Amino acid sequence: MPEETQWEAVIGLEVHVQLKTESKAFSASAVRFGESPNTLTDPTVLGLPGALPVFNAQGLRHAITLGLALGCEIRRDSRFSRKHYFYPDSPKGYQISQFEDPICDGGAVEIVRDGENHKVALTRIHLEDDAGKSTHLPGGRSLVDLNRAGVTLCEIVSEPVIRSAKEAGDYMRSLRQVVRYVGVSEADMEKGQMRCDANVSIRPKGQEILGTRTELKNINSFKFVENAIEHEIARQISLVENGERVVQETRLWDSEVGISRSMRSKEDAMDYRYMPDPDLPPLLVSEQLIESLQAALPELPAAAIGRLVTLGLSTDDAANLCSERQKLAYFDQTLAAYGTKPDTKSGGAKLIANWIAGELLRELNQDKRDIADCPVTPEQLAELLTLLSTDVVSGKIAKGVLTTMYSSGDSAQSIVEREGLQQITDTGAIESLVDKVLDENPSQVAKYKEGNMKMLGYFVGQVMKASGGQAKPKLVNELIRSKISGA
Ligand code: ADP
Ligand code: MG
Repeated sequence: MPEETQWEAVIGLEVHVQLKTESKAFSASAVRFGESPNTLTDPTVLGLPGALPVFNAQGLRHAITLGLALGCEIRRDSRFSRKHYFYPDSPKGYQISQFEDPICDGGAVEIVRDGENHKVALTRIHLEDDAGKSTHLPGGRSLVDLNRAGVTLCEIVSEPVIRSAKEAGDYMRSLRQVVRYVGVSEADMEKGQMRCDANVSIRPKGQEILGTRTELKNINSFKFVENAIEHEIARQISLVENGERVVQETRLWDSEVGISRSMRSKEDAMDYRYMPDPDLPPLLVSEQLIESLQAALPELPAAAIGRLVTLGLSTDDAANLCSERQKLAYFDQTLAAYGTKPDTKSGGAKLIANWIAGELLRELNQDKRDIADCPVTPEQLAELLTLLSTDVVSGKIAKGVLTTMYSSGDSAQSIVEREGLQQITDTGAIESLVDKVLDENPSQVAKYKEGNMKMLGYFVGQVMKASGGQAKPKLVNELIRSKISGA
């Protein structure tokens, strides 16, 4: 039997991100989501004769910011071109895009491959304007909404170096995280603010030259990115193994059925008749602008994770806290308010991380609330955790206090005082509870004396219960041991 060919998948992604701007890329028409169709247009968007485009400076700043965050080379002199195609949702008859001289070259998106950080190289990032939205009705009619037409997009193009569907998903997630950190877009896929075209080919393992690719359009969720690519790799392998060939084409992913269909044969660049846009001057970027945007960059996820690891957190815990910039900010503010306490491990970082990831997020999730509008402030959480680490309250009580804080907005201190929740550290008070429990359970005491050490846990539980959870567990433990051996 001939040895089976080992196939390798090759994937390159073109990700479009809508940049957060008040008005459209080349005109003053407003940008808003969910408005009545065709209410956000103007002569420039409609491509009426005589209307002239003027580029939106905010879009430029956002594209440069993203480029800097991804380590791209920023071009000081970039150009806009016209990319011609005829489609009802593009009334100008062309898209304004960048062809030969994009705003950014190179750069990379970091993902984890085989447990290690790995950089997925970018080809470029360019600016362009969005098309409108077509809705195809049964019976062959189509509706066009031009509210989205002319919105500023940047297209992030990866090199063909992604190797699996899962990796493509990781790449998208990591890219979205950076986009959100630097604040250039919400990158909400459900609102179409981040969309992806996936280019997929296969080749025998070890072969250098790339196979013929297909391009999958219409991918609008992380799940579909992975499903669509997975499906396409399998389709191509089965074609080739059955002696057929992969045709270069654009395919449309149908998420409802979970298959892709051929849409059209794929254009080559020359089909678009690219030409420099004569209405738009070169986009000249000053050193000063680049420097000020560089200086304004926030700490990026990879750096933040590294910093939290040096504070004593595990990589997983650090990554979890850094998944959103707001969560990281909450952690940092709590830590600052908590200060350094010599009696807690890693200065409280671990304690705080655990409480945010555990109790606090549980409350927020139940409430479907964002950490950015958490009713418990970082300072309030720090106060609660200070009461915990200085033994004023036990862990169990602290959890209940947090729930009360969350619903009432009151401070930990005032709740503890009002409800008398201070941990009992008075030896005398605990001793009398221990005596009572031992008196009431003679047969368990006998068992313990016969060597059944498990009984110790039972006694601790009973004393804790008798104290309403307020006795200091460590003291309870010590007192039971000494009492019982003395008894
Ligand atoms: P366009 O699709 O707009 O014509 P390009 O030809 O530059 O633009 O390719 C766009 C994307 O396709 C890039 O992400 C690139 O990495 C990817 N790509 C190109 N060739 C292949 C291939 N043979 N297999 C997989 N991906 C590819
Ligand atoms: Mg393409």
